[in-house]
Amino acid sequence: MTSLDDLPLRDDLRGREPYGAPQLDVPYALNTNENPYPPSERLVKALGEAVMDVAGTLNRYPDRDAVALREDLAAFLNADTPGVGLTAARVWAANGSNEILQQILLAFGGPGRTALGFEPSYSMHPIITEVSGTRWIAARRDEDFGIDPARAVAAVAEHRPDIVFLTSPNNPTGTALPLETIEAVAGAAPGMVVVDEAYGEFRRAETPSALTLLDGHPRLIVTRTMSKAFAMAGTRLGYLAADPAVLDALLLVRLPYHLSAVTQAVARTALAHREELLGGVNALRRERDGLVAWLRGAGFEVADSDANFVLFGTFPDRRRVWENLLERGVLIREVGPPEWLRVTIGTPEEMAAFRTGLRQSRGGTAPHTPRPDSVGDIKESQ
Ligand SMILES: *Cc1c(COP(=O)(O)O)cnc(C)c1O
Repeated sequence: MTSLDDLPLRDDLRGREPYGAPQLDVPYALNTNENPYPPSERLVKALGEAVMDVAGTLNRYPDRDAVALREDLAAFLNADTPGVGLTAARVWAANGSNEILQQILLAFGGPGRTALGFEPSYSMHPIITEVSGTRWIAARRDEDFGIDPARAVAAVAEHRPDIVFLTSPNNPTGTALPLETIEAVAGAAPGMVVVDEAYGEFRRAETPSALTLLDGHPRLIVTRTMSKAFAMAGTRLGYLAADPAVLDALLLVRLPYHLSAVTQAVARTALAHREELLGGVNALRRERDGLVAWLRGAGFEVADSDANFVLFGTFPDRRRVWENLLERGVLIREVGPPEWLRVTIGTPEEMAAFRTGLRQSRGGTAPHTPRPDSVGDIKESQ
């Protein structure tokens, strides 16, 4: 039998583990930050009709530049963040924002180059970075999971990375960044600055989007996805807004016809029904704020969240709490700082099951304070 060790694999890929959030069949899946609300029957029908419409043309390649879809995405962003005045020339789309990030790394990273991020944050940033041959530099978030602007500027000045990642709201902590922090980093960075706003639509009313900073910052990229608030994780559609010159760069590395005709048709139909799809966002926000209050009332430490998940702790043995919940059919995520756990916000019924499960599984694992003093050993999250 041939094993991986027998193959002439790239040296820098040897010993790596593939990405692997558990995909278990459980009654309550609260582990990958999906939106719990499936499309309505009406939307299912519309999606089916949209696929029917393109089915007869599948002998042909799709629109390579997905122009109509990008126009729809620009219109959505203009509604989401009034005043940004985006057009298709400044919006690009790919198969999930992970592919968007990969294209950014291919165009602006590569061997001999570096990308810097502030951990704990999204585990795919270092993975996509390193798989592209780019060196990853891990800076740290503060104790409260924020990023002090002066410290961020100092890290950028020290390492002079080709790409800086800022995740806001951050995964797995839920922390949103003030615009001053993003502006300070953009002002200091010698290269590209990527603000990953995968959870942007969940942000609290007073939290601004980095889209408002695009004018005047030609090296700033804001990435978004239809996987989270838009309840379309299965569609695989991510996108970005940036200066048109950034799109010129990405055209050099993207695969031809990367977005299938089916993907484009489904995403456009979803965008046309955005009121329905985003209709659950307010309910999820309320559920999130309620859960934060409940957890704090129960004596847990909880990070403030602008996203559709909550990071809570602290547990001397978080694995045991995770397992106890799983035994009760509740799957959450063991991720981020070593003594914390992350739970995705689901339906009221799912959250009731989570609260019951946590209460029951708490025996002997009561949260302890103070929090771990080293936020720094933390690697990852998704
Ligand atoms: C979930 C997530 C993404 C994206 O995913 P796609 O499904 O590939 O669009 C990107 N960034 C962060 C921080 C995420 O949590």
